[in-house]
Amino acid sequence: MIELSSEEARVLGCLMEKAVTTPDNYPLSVNALINACNQSTNRDPIVAYDEATVERALDGLREKRVSRRVRATGQRVVKHRHVVDEALQLSVPEYTVLGVLLLRGAQTPGELKQRAERWHTFRSLDDLEETLQRLADKDYVRQLERRPGQKESRWMTLIVTGAEAAFAAAGAPSVAARASVATEVDGEGSNRDPMPAPAVEPDTRVERSLEVRNPATDELIRSVAVTDEREVERKVERARRAQPAWAARSYDERATLLRAFRDLLEAETEECAQITTREMGKPIVQSRNEVRAVLDRVDWNVEHVGAVIAPRAVAAAAPGPVEERVTYEPVGLVAHISAWNYPYFVGLGAVVPALLTGNAVLYKPSEHATLTGLRIVDIMHRAGIPVDIVQTIVGSGAAGAALVSAEIDMVCFTGSYETGRRVARSVADRLVRVQLELGGKDGAYVCDDVDVDSAALAVAEGAFYNGGQSCSAIERVYVHDAIFDRFVDAFVDVVGAYRTGDPDDEHTDVGPLARAAQLDVLDAQVGDAVAKGARVLCGGKRIDRPGAWFEPTVLVDVDPSMSVMRDETFGPVVGLQRVRDDTEARLSLDDTEFGLGGSVFSAERTRAERILSRLEVGNAYWNRSDRSSVTLPWSGRRHSGMGVSMSESGIRAFVREKAWHLGP
Ligand code: NAD
Repeated sequence: MIELSSEEARVLGCLMEKAVTTPDNYPLSVNALINACNQSTNRDPIVAYDEATVERALDGLREKRVSRRVRATGQRVVKHRHVVDEALQLSVPEYTVLGVLLLRGAQTPGELKQRAERWHTFRSLDDLEETLQRLADKDYVRQLERRPGQKESRWMTLIVTGAEAAFAAAGAPSVAARASVATEVDGEGSNRDPMPAPAVEPDTRVERSLEVRNPATDELIRSVAVTDEREVERKVERARRAQPAWAARSYDERATLLRAFRDLLEAETEECAQITTREMGKPIVQSRNEVRAVLDRVDWNVEHVGAVIAPRAVAAAAPGPVEERVTYEPVGLVAHISAWNYPYFVGLGAVVPALLTGNAVLYKPSEHATLTGLRIVDIMHRAGIPVDIVQTIVGSGAAGAALVSAEIDMVCFTGSYETGRRVARSVADRLVRVQLELGGKDGAYVCDDVDVDSAALAVAEGAFYNGGQSCSAIERVYVHDAIFDRFVDAFVDVVGAYRTGDPDDEHTDVGPLARAAQLDVLDAQVGDAVAKGARVLCGGKRIDRPGAWFEPTVLVDVDPSMSVMRDETFGPVVGLQRVRDDTEARLSLDDTEFGLGGSVFSAERTRAERILSRLEVGNAYWNRSDRSSVTLPWSGRRHSGMGVSMSESGIRAFVREKAWHLGP
């Protein structure tokens, strides 16, 4: 029977984990082990080991004959591998359970089953409990007393010194408490000097896994392994090798697979909608609407891409013997870096035409819609699209940066102006094709000839649908002086009646924000507006409950100097400003660095068209807003991006034209 200190347990657990989850980077150097030990996810307690601590633990593990030093031929760096299977004679399920217990302390069978998923899939809870029993028979684990109020009792490993006392004392540890648990374990159990309480600092290390949380409750849904730089490169290589064969298939073959994907997606609409609602907080009815609506977009692409990329004969300008022809070839390897707010529209808006035109796609869903992205690609693979042709890159900015630095032929980016510029800069020297769909600050003008009540309803819908988290949400409203007061009353009535709450509830109008960090932006914009003289007629502050909540907010007495009327808000906050006439309205609508969309609400179409035709926007709306259509080109001007998606122009974004001069 071996007995490990808490540091040895952590180091051994990391060796066991990495041997399974990142076998290409295994055995591990001391540096890799330090990172693995100090990971802030999939570890309990969180620790901050230095090199000396890890080296000391490795010495101990070697003495106890559970690890060895190795040096690859021709390499200087000494690496470390475990020999747990030899020393303890474990089966794969036993190895898995013991490893997860070493990394995360006492856990219930349910927790163990979920957390072991990346190592080994247990068929059922019974399967896992049998494994625990076998380990108990060997005296490697023990079941703890059930705590009051708990349904399941926890299991702990017996091979860590003093673990029982520490875990029993730990309760449900907070981050701060976890640090002190680590100190207690060291103090009580090992004969070494107690380690100083590890400082729990903000995590600046390279992320290894992503914690997906429910923004409505802040509960952890699950951890997902992040694609690191080397994995990105390997995925890119695989995609590049596979792409020519994909492009060589007939269009009908590719279309058949995309149709199969569409049918599976339709069959799984409810499950997909629930995944999105859980991880980004979109009200369930809106998630369902998005999945259903994207089916039509996939259909349209399947029906039209073939014709758009079919070879085309051209009538030469001057008569002569040379025959002229145009053919369309895929760009090659397309990286799609996505936003989270409409994960089906945005993700599939790029991935589907890119695949149909014969490209391979590396798709990085937003870190706030990771499970949705993984599900989309999983359905594609189940539909028969080759696994190397569409692959997921998981992670946040670092994973996106690794992807754009890799050998790709095109990057199709949807996100903020700041990140978009960064992406464009990083590929500029390599002349990689870039398409950017960026932020917006869409304005609406409400003319004096409208039906006030119905205009108020429509404008509020444009401002607050999806909690205002739409690139083309109405974020500024200019109302004609003649109806301003009446319109404001009607608007506040509509917004005041919105039901804010549980996004799983079909009656909810406004859910939480997908990103807690955005709360600071909203606070700052409302604060700045109020400090400069604005009045809050509705909402104005965070809602005090777990998760990321902000009240639907209406501001008046706003002016263009205020951040709320200039900078992207991306939340449920809108400012209403009085204007004298159409000219002032038009100049106000155009007084922005963005250029995604503009709306005019009026009984008279020619009046609306006159204003809209002079705006620097990619999308013009009469009595509508916040709408996109797969048959129309989607583009932004100025800081709202470059390039076109959707429509025939959007399809051509994914192909290169070849001009043929065919002399007799
Ligand atoms: P974001 O810019 O924070 O992130 C977008 C994506 O870029 C994410 O996947 C992120 O992980 C990745 N990323 C971050 N840093 C990166 C880097 N250095 N290199 C490569 N990738 C990196 O934006 P967001 O919060 O996901 O989305 C909201 C923004 O997207 C808003 O500004 C919204 O207006 C815009 N948006 C625009 C459209 C459009 O069609 N124009 C559609 C949806 C959203």
